Amino acid sequence: MEIICILIILLLMGIICCLLWKNHCLKRDIYDFTEKLEISLKELLDGKNLKKAVYRQDDLWGKVYDKLCRISDMYTHRNQELYEEKGNLKELVSDTSHQMKTPLANIKLYQELLLDETNTSESAEYLTRMSKQVDKLDFLLQSMVKISRLETGTIKIKKSEYPVAETLALAIGAVVPKADQKNIQIHVAYDETLRLEHDKKWTAEAIFNVLDNAVKYTSKNGKIYISVCQGEIFTKISITDTGRGIPLERQGTIFNRFYREPEIHDTEGVGLGLYLTRKIISMQNGYIKVESETGKGSIFHICLPN
Ligand code: ADP
Repeated sequence: MEIICILIILLLMGIICCLLWKNHCLKRDIYDFTEKLEISLKELLDGKNLKKAVYRQDDLWGKVYDKLCRISDMYTHRNQELYEEKGNLKELVSDTSHQMKTPLANIKLYQELLLDETNTSESAEYLTRMSKQVDKLDFLLQSMVKISRLETGTIKIKKSEYPVAETLALAIGAVVPKADQKNIQIHVAYDETLRLEHDKKWTAEAIFNVLDNAVKYTSKNGKIYISVCQGEIFTKISITDTGRGIPLERQGTIFNRFYREPEIHDTEGVGLGLYLTRKIISMQNGYIKVESETGKGSIFHICLPN
């Protein structure tokens, strides 16, 4: 009898040990599975492509991993398609804008000839208005060609070390006639010897856009100040004006494509200047920011890495 009891106890103990061992193995498998799932999902979220045939195909994890690989392939394929579509679209915009240059130049020419021929003041008035609209269209096309060429990489940013003063001189020179017309004084204060690695032509274009706005949105007899300050990481080019200023809630929006403030629709412009400027500056790993107060003026800081 005693022997039977001992045997039953031993049998029970054996069953318990067996169950405990199974439990342990199950927990280990679940832990293993979740850990591998977590690693694979992280790789997917990081945009990496999962490597195929890493695991056996016949167990549960192998099957799940195979499905994850297919999802990964689908994403990569779709991203590639989207990337190519975007590139094609940008090229189309660039080419179309470029192709429109010649007909536009011809329209301008015929319209000037017509203006010479016309003898009624009414027709002359309409032709002059037409000329302004054609100029606007021309400016819009030129900006679109620049933006799309920068975006598609047709135009490359080429950085070299130049004196900042030379780049500023290019931008200031282009804006002086307009500033003179409004009797706006431009004050400069910077170290002429300061050198910085940057793309001279495109940075001058970016600074010109900000300066051109400063002149456009400042009333007659206003002032513009330009200063350069070299910090540890960035060189900051600041352009201050005494113009109309920008309300705080719109200071982030002014850099959007085609954004123009509702109040300035009678002032020339198409809303692409600041968008292009930000693009040029960010392509050089820099940034642009604005501080402004309505009615008092604005400061635009263009920051480029040293
Ligand atoms: P555009 O000047 O052709 O309208 P921008 O992209 O250069 O386009 O500027 C976007 C908008 O930001 C302008 O329409 C104007 O409302 C505002 N803005 C830009 N610069 C200034 C400035 N210095 N002072 C006041 N408003 C400005």
